[in-house]
Amino acid sequence: MKNKVTVVGSGNWGSVAAKLIASNTVRLSSFDDEVRMWVFEEKLPSGEKLTDVINRTNENVKYLPGIKLGKNVVADPDVESAVKGANMLVFVSPHQFMEGICKKLVGKIGKDTEGISLVKGMEVKKEGPCMISTLISKTLGINCSVLMGANIANEIALEKFSEATVGYSKNKEAAEKWVQLFGTPYFIVSAVQDVEGVEMCGTLKNIVAIAAGFVDGMEMGNNTKAAIMRIGLKEMIKFSKMLFPSVKDSTFFESCGVADLITTCLGGRNRKVADAYAKNQGKRSFDQLEAELLNGQKLQGVLTAKEVYEVLSDRGWVEQFPLFSTVHAISIGRLPPSAIVELGDSKSANK
Ligand code: NAD
Ligand code: 13P
Repeated sequence: MKNKVTVVGSGNWGSVAAKLIASNTVRLSSFDDEVRMWVFEEKLPSGEKLTDVINRTNENVKYLPGIKLGKNVVADPDVESAVKGANMLVFVSPHQFMEGICKKLVGKIGKDTEGISLVKGMEVKKEGPCMISTLISKTLGINCSVLMGANIANEIALEKFSEATVGYSKNKEAAEKWVQLFGTPYFIVSAVQDVEGVEMCGTLKNIVAIAAGFVDGMEMGNNTKAAIMRIGLKEMIKFSKMLFPSVKDSTFFESCGVADLITTCLGGRNRKVADAYAKNQGKRSFDQLEAELLNGQKLQGVLTAKEVYEVLSDRGWVEQFPLFSTVHAISIGRLPPSAIVELGDSKSANK
């Protein structure tokens, strides 16, 4: 039987993921050509539904304008019908919506289904932190790998060369299938057996990108930005290993690690909005700036800084992570953006 793929999500990266996958399912005989893509339905200013426009024009005119997705991509606003019959599910939504999406899918998917999460973020529950791949596998009872990397969606949409990392835990065969499904000559995918390490990299670099945006907004220069990235990388490694001792050092040298940190600090949305926040000296909130600058796209870094801070304070680790703690304190207005280079003061800032 042929593998059947559904992409659960259709934002900027979700649409590019659907395009990459669709270019491969028509080429590879082991996959059904059609790729279904779940769309969180919305009305466009024209009054038309986004799903109808995607299916008519083959373009996600709101989240990825100007790019054809492939005629074999079919948009569906009903998540249950979108996943029906699929045995490979690609999850790619802003992380804050993932719990609700998973709840809707309980009991609706086959037991041999494989999942992969492209979602960069984590949930913090009373019981402690929960990575999104764990949320998916626990809620739906399926194996879930992850794909992370230096992957600014708009650049991959234009087929500019880049790399990505699949992280898996036990099922190497499934990881190889994901590598085959995503890989193209301009999108080189490799797999590593370190699902937590790969996912922590993708999640935590968004906090560092917020810090880099503050540095840019205050025009502090390249040396300062490099220093912030170095300190941020050290905190990423330390935090990942304190939460998951199995995380491998080598993972930080894959695309999901240092490469994603660099690209996001140079050209990502987290950087862009934090830059504007610093330029406005914190007078406009992140929510306001996100709405003004991103046309419906969502930031992950501010929420992740809050979630990570909850873990840090719960475990008594705040003092060991001055950059993560300071990004949180600045983003909620407790400290000014200039505090990003006064990391020694983070302890008092987060009391
Ligand atoms: P996006 O930020 O471009 O778009 C937001 C999406 O959320 C839209 O599809 C919107 O319809 C949907 N949405 C809005 N309200 C919703 C709700 N209440 N419930 C469910 N969905 C709702 O999305 P994206 O860029 O595809 O990001 C998805 C994930 O991919 C994130 O974790 C992000 O960090 C990660 N990622 C993004 C990029 C990138 O360059 N865009 C690259 C790599 C990874
Ligand atoms: P932003 O969400 O900051 O745009 O980062 C995108 C990304 O994850 C690139 O790999």
